[in-house]
Parts: sequence; structure tokens; C-alpha cells
Amino acid sequence: MVEYALGIDIGGTNISAGLIDLQGRIHLKKSIPSYAQKGGPAVLRKANQLAQTILARSDNVLGVGVGVPGQIDPGRGMPLSPTPNIPKWSHLPVKSVIARSTGLPVFIENDANVAALGEMYFGAGKTAVSPALMRDKGVKNLVCLTLGTGIGGGIIIDGKIYSGSFYYAGEIGHITILPTPRLRQTSDPNVVRCKCGNYGCLETIASASGVVRRFLSACHSRAGGNPVTAKQIFDNAKKGIQPYKDIALETGFYLGIACASIINILDLDLVVIGGKMSEAGPILFNQIRKTFRKRIMQSAAKQPNVVPAKLGGDAGLIGAGVLVFQKLGYL
Ligand SMILES: [Zn+2]
Repeated sequence: MVEYALGIDIGGTNISAGLIDLQGRIHLKKSIPSYAQKGGPAVLRKANQLAQTILARSDNVLGVGVGVPGQIDPGRGMPLSPTPNIPKWSHLPVKSVIARSTGLPVFIENDANVAALGEMYFGAGKTAVSPALMRDKGVKNLVCLTLGTGIGGGIIIDGKIYSGSFYYAGEIGHITILPTPRLRQTSDPNVVRCKCGNYGCLETIASASGVVRRFLSACHSRAGGNPVTAKQIFDNAKKGIQPYKDIALETGFYLGIACASIINILDLDLVVIGGKMSEAGPILFNQIRKTFRKRIMQSAAKQPNVVPAKLGGDAGLIGAGVLVFQKLGYL
């Protein structure tokens, strides 16, 4: 009989759930709107109902894995911090509520962390060549960045999520990439305040919203007030149109610096980059790799690589299932 884990991915826009098998395949996937503005307790109730619906149609489910936004204490099974997209989210007992209603073991983790775990087992990490092992056997040490409105990050070391001492490891979007010349003041229009309160974070520059902001600031007179998306900027960049091309290359440059800094600290096999913006393809990745290779310390023979994610929007769901199998000793 096939054994399953129920993976749940709770986001500010949608809640997705599905059964994951030991090969990383998804069965019985369902997505519903989270209606996050109604607040954390309502979102959790909806996630719980979705879990019940799927469990009612399936046998042999070993446990439930939940990927949720924010700083997560996996032991207490709750978010320790508020999240901008879901009001009243902090300290909600996610794990105990779902465990009580399903009667199954429940494991929760930060959403970017489970996405990284999913990519390691069944996505970009599965087929990658490990520079450490020098053979095509899948990698165990990687970082996964998700480029969206913000920049999420998850770190996997020796096949397991690295949560950190205070559960917020992997906040790569908030490393300072453009320092202010003077405290709190700058004349550089690219150095802007991040939602975390600091200035010049990677997220303010290389997230989808950061790319749009930089484009508008570079050519405010020519934008004509029309809304522009990161996808349009990269589409025009691919055709060689300026200033789109410069914005795209500059984005790759800053991401390349960030990727090299992570590798120089952690000595990982792979940097995986996902999120909608990663679909820009070679115009983004060639520049990231060019900058990355110049700045990493490893020898050329054992170079780690930067690659696009493979699981798309399902990385979190699959990773939540992987978390269950891993915690119960199946993987
Ligand atoms: Zn920040």
C-alpha cells in the first residue's frame, strides 16, 4: 500500500493541500482562497477544514506537514512573529489545532524552508551534480531563494532544514547589498528603506517589486504613469531594449553577489532560485552566474552552481510532505 503525507501550504493568498507520496508526487491536490484579511484564526480553520476534506478521501496518511509564513518554532508548533499578509497570525497554535482535529503527527516549518526541502529532494537538488561528491547523486547542501514580491530563503544543510538559533535563518532578502553612505540618509536613489526597517536590503533591489521600483526610478519621465510588471521588464530586456536590459543585468549582478556571499559563508553545493521572476531565464541566470563565479572562493574544479527551481508553486506543498517523511524516518 502506498504511504502518503498530507502537505499543507498556507499563504496570504491561497491555502493548498495535497497528499505526497515517497516519490514526491502530488495526489488529491486542492487549493482554496485564504481570505487572509479575516485573520489568522479564520485562516487556520480553513486550512483545517481542507485537511479534513482530503483525509476523508484517503487512507494510509502517516502525518501532516504544514508550511506557514513567519518565524516558526517547530517544537511549540507556532509562528513567533506577525506576518504582514495575515493579521493575528503570531502565536497561533497551528500544530496542536491540526493535530487535535486529524489525530495525526503534525510538523510545521517556515514556508520558504519547506520549499527548499522540496527542491532538494524532488526538484533542482535531485538531479544536480554535487561538487562535494563530484558525482550525479543529488545534493544535500543548498540554499533556495524565492523571488516574488519579497525574497524568501531556505537553507538545507546535510539534507535537513537549518532553522537557526532563533528560527529565522535564511532571511537572505534582508542582507544589505547597498549600504547607506550615512546612517538613515542617502542620496543614492537605489538605496531605499526595506519593510524590515533597514536600508539597501537585497529584497528592495532584486525582488519583483524591487525591479519595478528601480525601473521606474531610472526612467520616471518615460514610464508615463503606466503600470509595469517585472515580467514586462524582463520580456523587453530579452529583446535588447534599453533601459530594460540594464535593469535586468543589474538585477542578476546583485543576485550574483548575494549568492556568492551565501556560498562563501556556508560552502553549499547549490543555489536554487525560484519564484515567478526566475522564469526570466538566461538573461537573468547568465548574469547571476557570471558575477557569482567571480566572487566565490572555491576552486574551479569544485564549483557550486546557481540553477532555476523545478517545482514551481508546488515546492512548499511537496516540501511539507517531505518534512513528514523525514521526521518519521521514511526519508
Ligand atoms: Zn530588509
